[in-house]
Amino acid sequence: MQTRNQRTLARSIECSGVGIFTNADVKIRFCPAPENHGIQFIRTDLVDSKPIPALIQNAVFKQRRTAIEYQGASVEMIEHVMAALAGLRIDNCRIEINAPEAPCFDGSSQELSIELLEAGIVEQPFKRDLICIGQPVSVEDDTGSFIQAKPLNRSVLAIGYYLNYGEDSPIPPQCLTLEINPETWMKQLAFSRTFVLEDEVETMRSLGYGLRLSAGDLLVLGEQGVVDNELRTLDECVRHKILDCLGDFALIGCDLYGYFCANQSGHALNRELIKKIKSTHQIISSEAAWKIA
Ligand SMILES: [Zn+2]
Repeated sequence: MQTRNQRTLARSIECSGVGIFTNADVKIRFCPAPENHGIQFIRTDLVDSKPIPALIQNAVFKQRRTAIEYQGASVEMIEHVMAALAGLRIDNCRIEINAPEAPCFDGSSQELSIELLEAGIVEQPFKRDLICIGQPVSVEDDTGSFIQAKPLNRSVLAIGYYLNYGEDSPIPPQCLTLEINPETWMKQLAFSRTFVLEDEVETMRSLGYGLRLSAGDLLVLGEQGVVDNELRTLDECVRHKILDCLGDFALIGCDLYGYFCANQSGHALNRELIKKIKSTHQIISSEAAWKIA
């Protein structure tokens, strides 16, 4: 079985942006962290706030985004940050954030991924824990959406996604399967932006969301196509869904090998699958994986 060393940043970096749900100005700082630290957020705007480990047991339900909460502190919209760290295989990172929500950036993970790469990534002496999918696991909801994890005969993570919102949707059906590694992350996924239907924008605004964003800041899709913007690839939407899967899967806190096949799955189903995998599969500790290798 293929194992690898844990990795962290070579130096700290700071980024800023606007929160899509809270409309807040956000500063977020990514700092190196020791072996077996994992990804932890710390709310610097709260007094005596404890770090919030980015793990599935700390996930809390929020509509259309991923949020974690621990000992009274929470942070939401973390999936694009988590995807960037997972895509680049940055396993240990302390993230200081001065708001309850990660910044939206341009709706993708591209800018952050470039900054993280520029900071440099260094290997650490410890091996990374992993879960290797040994038997099929699947979850579904009452709309017919589902996501499955299946065994693979190679030590890789592959994610396939089928998106079909129906004949009347401005988003055409799209399907893509990718093997995830730092190279495919940067070339095939990091640039893909979050998207919203034009019909949904007014509802979101009435709820107070996205008040500081315009159609140029993320993908808005209407009957006439993309509003005030251009697609980066024809299948940008399905690429972003795979990006979201990767960010949500990262809450498992270790490497994941297997083939994941999603049909219209969203954050809630992604999290449910990860919980089920954790309850049905054993984590192979770094020490054991080292011996198997
Ligand atoms: Zn997303």
